Amino acid sequence: MPELPEVETVRRDLEKDVKGFTILASHDLHPRALKPESIAPLKSIIGAKIINVNRRGKFLWFELNRPQVLVAHLGMSGQFLILKNNEPSPKHVRAKFELSKNLRKKELVFNDQRTFGWVSVEETTDGIPSSAQHIAKDPFDPFFDRDETINKFAKRNIRIKTALLNQEIMSGVGNIYADETLWRAKVHPEVSTSDLSKKKIELIIDFATQVMQEAIAKSGTSFDGAYRKVNGESGSFEDSLAAYGRTDEPCPRCGTPIRRIVFGARSSHFCPRCQRKIK
Ligand SMILES: [Zn+2]
Repeated sequence: MPELPEVETVRRDLEKDVKGFTILASHDLHPRALKPESIAPLKSIIGAKIINVNRRGKFLWFELNRPQVLVAHLGMSGQFLILKNNEPSPKHVRAKFELSKNLRKKELVFNDQRTFGWVSVEETTDGIPSSAQHIAKDPFDPFFDRDETINKFAKRNIRIKTALLNQEIMSGVGNIYADETLWRAKVHPEVSTSDLSKKKIELIIDFATQVMQEAIAKSGTSFDGAYRKVNGESGSFEDSLAAYGRTDEPCPRCGTPIRRIVFGARSSHFCPRCQRKIK
C-alpha cells in the first residue's frame, strides 16, 4: 500500500511530467473511480492547466489555474502512469486524462486493481482540499510542529503502532514505515503511548522522518508489486527493510529472528530482543 515515500515519488514524477500541461479530455471509467464527495464530474476540469502537484500525507492533488483542484488517493494499489506512444493500456484503468502542452500530447491514466483509490474535484481551504482537511501535517511539511505532534502522541493512551498509523496525529506513515520506525527506535509496537517518555516519542518521530527520507531517495517500496512510479518502474527500498516482511529472518542488529504479530487487523513485524515490551 503506498505510503508517504511512494506518494511523494509519484508527486515528484508528476510534477516533472505534467506541470504546465492542459487537460484536453478526462474520463472516469469505473463507478468507484470518482469519489462520491466530488463536487463536479471529471469533465468539469477539461480546459484547466496543471500549475503544480501537491501532497499532504498520502493525499495528492493537482493545482489548477482555477479554484478547484483534482485530488487523488492511491488507496491500496492506485498508480498514475504516462502511456508511451502506442503502449497498450494497463488492465485496470479507472480514469484517463489527455494532456497537451504546445504541440506535445500525453496520456495520463489512473490504474487501480483493487479500486480503493479514487480521484475527485474539490474546493480548497488554506490551500488544502476538503478531503484532506482532517489529516494532520506530515513531518516533511514546512509547517510541521514537532512539539505539538509529540503532545498529540503523549495525550493518547493507545498502542504506539496504532498511533503511528493514525493520520490525524501525524500523516504519511503506514504499516511498512511504522514497523521500520519502531525497529529503529527499539520500541515494541504494542507499548502504549502513555508509557513512552516525550523524549522517546520525539525519537520515534525522528526515525519515522529518517526512514521515509531514505525511502524517498530510493523511490519507495514496491513490496507487493502494487506500487509503481509514473514511468512504470518499481521503487527499491524493500532491500533496505529491517523488519517489515522479514518474519523469521535474522534481525540486522542482533540476529534474533523477526517476529510477526497481528493486532488492529494489521500485521506488525519486530525484533523480540531489541524491541521489548518494557517501559
Ligand atoms: Zn534485534
